Amino acid sequence: MEISERTKGLGTENAFVVLAEVNKLLREGKDIVSFCIGQPDFDAPQSAKDAAINAINNHKSGYTASAGIPELRKAAAEYLSRSRKISVSPDSIVIAGGGKPFIAMAILSVTDFGKGHEVIYPNPGYPIYEAQINSSGAVPVPLFLKESHKYNFDIEELKQKLNDNTRLLILNSPQNPTGGVLSKEELEKIAEVLKDYPKVWVYSDEVYSEFCYDAPFESIAAVPGMQERTIIVDCVSKSFAMTGWRVGYCSNEELAPHITKWVTNIESCANHPAQWAAIGALTGAWDDVKMMKKEFHARRDLIVSGLNEIPGFRCLSPGGAFYIWPNVTEACRLIGAKDSEEFRSRLLNEMGVAVLADQHFGPHVEGEGQHIRFSYAASQNTIREGLKRIKDFMEKNTK
Ligand code: PLP
Repeated sequence: MEISERTKGLGTENAFVVLAEVNKLLREGKDIVSFCIGQPDFDAPQSAKDAAINAINNHKSGYTASAGIPELRKAAAEYLSRSRKISVSPDSIVIAGGGKPFIAMAILSVTDFGKGHEVIYPNPGYPIYEAQINSSGAVPVPLFLKESHKYNFDIEELKQKLNDNTRLLILNSPQNPTGGVLSKEELEKIAEVLKDYPKVWVYSDEVYSEFCYDAPFESIAAVPGMQERTIIVDCVSKSFAMTGWRVGYCSNEELAPHITKWVTNIESCANHPAQWAAIGALTGAWDDVKMMKKEFHARRDLIVSGLNEIPGFRCLSPGGAFYIWPNVTEACRLIGAKDSEEFRSRLLNEMGVAVLADQHFGPHVEGEGQHIRFSYAASQNTIREGLKRIKDFMEKNTK
């Protein structure tokens, strides 16, 4: 039987390939220290669990409106208004099964298949952006993140890449995989450039917004004139350690009815009890968020300083999320690995330390060298053990 070209060419999160490798080694009884997984290692907040149990016991088991239950739309609107310092109305909110579905639904809502509509997205970046731009028949235009720009892009490059065919600019701050954060000044510069391109929507992927360590989180939607053209996306996955509950929310007044239609087409509505759990989180779990943020901050400092002491590693201290993106060009040279993928594979197989390579987040950026990604959603003891093994690995293998 035939499989469509669209499906055969569909990109994916290659992180899951590494995860399969790690699981195989674990089944073989190997002792693995994993920095692969992009999810908090904490339990879901009690307020979310209680709200879900209550919903289940009170017959909240039918379909909901595709846009979500009014109580959650209101709670999400209040949260976004408060945290982004803007006025968000519940009518502009759409609920879906996590933050991820909005990527496809937003691209489908603002581009047409085969018309040459361009979508600019960060590279290195969350791989689903490129996969969904391609599968929806739009044109992917990567915007390169540079270490010299603290893992952000050059505004001049953005100017060069915008044109009459551009329909969407995807921003992700704090960023996966680099942990980079866009400052208020940078967001204002982007907004200034976009003034000349009124057809361009902005997809602002803010799923790590609660984890900013050096400065308060800033959304481009808060820059004057930007809220109307910005799709703000957030979810309970990362902020509340609820990745498996599958609840996300987006906000844009004009696009909300269109995105809602996509929800109707694709999933009818988000999981009903989980929507109540999200209300429990948004209204009662801020102490949990505070605790996680404090712990992630301490882990970032521990892993960044530890890696910078290992010869061959160079690691900036990124402002957010729970990822670091050390430059391992010199480490590869020291041990004779041809690239970051060989380095990653050897680290896993020889020392049992699991990380991801830069090629899992898009093609290499010219002149940027080799990088690997660590998720520090792992205990401080795990981080110390990982650092020790990496140090041993470098000592043993340096030629
Ligand atoms: N956006 C980014 C940048 C991510 O890193 C992730 C998950 O890793 C998502 C979206 C997906 O979030 P969710 O699990 O809520 O679908």
